[in-house]
Amino acid sequence: TGTLPRPPQPRVMTIANQKGGVGKTTSAVNLAAGLALHGLGVLVIDLDPQGNASTALGIDHRQPGIASVYEMLLDDVPLRDAIQRSPFNERLYCVPSTLDLAGAEIELVSVVARESRLRNALDMDLLSQLNIDYVLIDCPPSLGLLTVNAMVAAQEVLIPIQCEYYALEGVGQLLRNIELVQAHLNKGLHVSTILLTMYDGRTKLADQVAAEVRNHFGDKVLSTIIPRSVKVSEAPGFGMTIIEYDPGSRGAMSYLDASREVAERGAAVGGRTK
Ligand code: ADP
Ligand code: MG
Repeated sequence: TGTLPRPPQPRVMTIANQKGGVGKTTSAVNLAAGLALHGLGVLVIDLDPQGNASTALGIDHRQPGIASVYEMLLDDVPLRDAIQRSPFNERLYCVPSTLDLAGAEIELVSVVARESRLRNALDMDLLSQLNIDYVLIDCPPSLGLLTVNAMVAAQEVLIPIQCEYYALEGVGQLLRNIELVQAHLNKGLHVSTILLTMYDGRTKLADQVAAEVRNHFGDKVLSTIIPRSVKVSEAPGFGMTIIEYDPGSRGAMSYLDASREVAERGAAVGGRTK
């Protein structure tokens, strides 16, 4: 693994798809681990109350009293108090989520600047001090205020799409929500990346879905496709990314390739694209 180009400014990417189980969390943590392995500084913000991204990055989000993304969003706790370093890589950081976050969707409704809480909490000076090049935000499976906060805080959206039946179901609604955020809250937001996940080469369907997605999204779709693999699904049970759990596996290699593509594309368009 060689070193990849650093973007001129941190790229903030939201990983969104309101469908559950499409590979958002798996992609967030493994792209993050891949980018970090390639020498880049990465922060994962876990915006899902399930906390699976935190767990996969080796962070115990059930410790009592830890500061989490909930306190950043609702109690003005600064990023520096909520950020933790992953034990897997010194360049990999995480803001964990806790179960409190399940209530945040409702609690945010009555808060001032409720859509911009995460953006306002993203301390760019701290990111620069820690040499963080990528901020990947793992969204919950809904289009509520947590996902809106992620979209307001980001410049880019990465949409994982599963190579399965109904792959594009709900994607139209997701795109309309992104347009609403663009129109009213964050002009610079755009869908930069589509990642095909859980590809099963033995089925004709997987190829059809991949072709349909490429037809629809053109060169936003990464050439790397993530295969369906049992190892990938086992890794979270050990509190690891696949890159940590089995670095030589097809799943790990494909996430490493995908992270390289993400970084090379970002460099080609000058990092922070507007
Ligand atoms: P989401 O965050 O969109 O809900 P996850 O990343 O949690 O989706 O993935 C859903 C389930 O599928 C998890 O159990 C995960 O381990 C598994 N999974 C994700 N990617 C793969 C893959 N490439 N191959 C096999 N299982 C996968
Ligand atoms: Mg998830």
